[in-house]
Parts: sequence; C-alpha cells; structure tokens
Amino acid sequence: MAVIGFIGLGHMGGPMSANLVKAGHSVQGFDLIPAALEVADRHGVTTVASAADAAAGADAVITMLPSGKHVLACYDDVLAAAKPGTLLIDSSTVDVADARQAHERAAEAGFGSIDAPVSGGTAGAEAGTLTFMVGGSEEDFRRAEPLLEPMARKVIHCGGPGNGQVTKMCNNLILGASMIAVSEAFVLGERLGLSHQALYDVASISTGQCWALTTNCPVPDLVETSRANHDYEPGFAAALMLKDLRLAASAAEQSGTDAAIGRLATELYQRFNEEGGGDLDFGAIIKSVREHSEQR
Ligand code: NAD
Repeated sequence: MAVIGFIGLGHMGGPMSANLVKAGHSVQGFDLIPAALEVADRHGVTTVASAADAAAGADAVITMLPSGKHVLACYDDVLAAAKPGTLLIDSSTVDVADARQAHERAAEAGFGSIDAPVSGGTAGAEAGTLTFMVGGSEEDFRRAEPLLEPMARKVIHCGGPGNGQVTKMCNNLILGASMIAVSEAFVLGERLGLSHQALYDVASISTGQCWALTTNCPVPDLVETSRANHDYEPGFAAALMLKDLRLAASAAEQSGTDAAIGRLATELYQRFNEEGGGDLDFGAIIKSVREHSEQR
C-alpha cells in the first residue's frame, strides 16, 4: 500500500481521497478550507497543514484543484518537498498549456508525472467509477494505474504529456454541443406539436442517439438517470461545462482549428451562466433555448 499526498479535497477530491483510504492506502490530505479537511478527516484521511506536508514522504501526490494556475502554484511547494521517485498526478481539469508546463517543471526537478483529468462527476467520484484520461510516458502511466484503480471504472492512456487534458476537452466539446442540439430539437418539436415521447422514442434508436439524449435527457420523465427529473440539480453543473468549453475554444484558437460549433456552444453556455443557470445541471440549457425562442 502506498502513501499518497492529496491536495484539493473539494466536491471531487473529498470522495476520491476517501476511496483511496478504503482501498488501504495511507492518504495525507490538504485543502485551504477547514470544512473540507474536517470531512476528509472523518473518512480516514490524515489531514496536514500545507501542500508541502502532503507531499513529504509520499509515493505519489494527487492534485484535484480548480484550475491550472492553482496546480502550478502548488507544484512550487510540492516539488521542493517531495522525496526522489514521487509520482505527480494532476487530476484537475486545466488548460493543455498549463498541463504541459506542469509536466516540464516536474521533469526538470527529476519527477515523473501524468495529467489525469476525469469524467463521471461527483457521483462517479463517490462510487469510485471515474474515467481517467491519462497523458504522460508509458512508464509513468503504468506506475499510476494501480493507484488510480480504487477511484476508477476505466483508466485510459491517451498519449504523451497533456493528452489527458486534450481528450477531456474534446469529449466535453462533443457533450456540450450535443446537449444544445438535443435541447433545440425538443423545443422545435414542442413548438410544432410533436410530443416529447414521440421524439424520444424515435431519436433514441435512430441516428440522433447520443449520451445527452439517452442518459441525461434535458426533458424530464423520459430517462430514469436524467438530472431533469430532479429540477436539474447537478450532475455536471453548467458552470463547469462553460469552463471546459472555454478550454476547448482557447485550444482551438491556439491550434488554428476551425471549431465553429465549439465557439457557439461556449457563447450559449456563457449566456446561460450570465442569466443565472451556472449552478444547474448543464441539461438545463433547454430552459435557455425556450426562453430565447420567439413568443408567438
Ligand atoms: P471544488 O471547488 O469543490 O474543489 C477544489 C478544492 O481545491 C477546494 O476545496 C479548494 O479549497 C481547494 N484548493 C484551492 N486552492 C488550493 C490550494 N492552493 N491548496 C489546497 N487546496 C486548494 O472543485 P471540484 O468540483 O472538486 O473540481 C475539482 C477539479 O475537478 C476541477 O478542475 C474541475 O473542473 C474538475 N472536475 C469536476 C467535476 C465535477 O463534477 N465537480 C467533474 C470532472 C472534473
């Protein structure tokens, strides 16, 4: 069993660190928020007073932080405090450029590292069924795999440094755009006298089939797993969808990719966030489609 430093014990990091404890690992956890430390402590995490203390003596350090700037700031302390051979695992969703910078800084200091963002949300974090998308060397991937396993349903090696983040962002571009398309289709159908059920029955077994329709349908009472059935309580919040779409839009611009749908999806989620939808599940974008449709 390993000693694991865990930095960032929030909605995701809290339950993820608890699953590592359940698997028998010794976890040294740090967060800036005392309440997060208290919850982690109740789940058997040894709470410590700084990122450096979390890294000291650890075989691996996992970061689960809001953004790349938080990760890079933490790495200053982590790289100075970690023992030789410590593996650095960043599971936060961050900009690809920040992820690659984190890898470079780790390598310069003599440490192996992977970027390993996740999908599956807080439910997946609690159940230990996250999908990890890993960027880094084959050797570091192999070392990380057994450590990630108690938190994961799948751990997939996506290529070199930063490619975990590239994969996450490309997946969420598909997801954000398809949720908007599914929402527009339901609202268009409503306005032309088509029942939700009829559209669902056909599209769910036809070429319109996708996760946004058949797992998290934006219309309530059609799919058991949908957050629409729970007043759009997330699930995956629209604010986080906007964050991921912005990362994709900025990477598209930097790489010269003509991602027109991605740009538009970012604008529509931004509008929804500005209108107060950020804390709702991202499927609630259907409300915005209805509200912005012409009154006739
Ligand atoms: P969160 O805000 O609940 O947790 C982040 C935690 O990091 C907070 O508790 C905060 O206090 C702590 N923190 C910030 N700076 C710190 C520092 N310097 N040292 C120690 N702790 C620090 O966010 P979350 O929902 O747990 O998300 C974490 C990451 O996972 C984000 O990058 C997010 O995009 C990604 N993610 C979230 C979800 C989701 O459904 N919530 C799904 C997939 C990926």
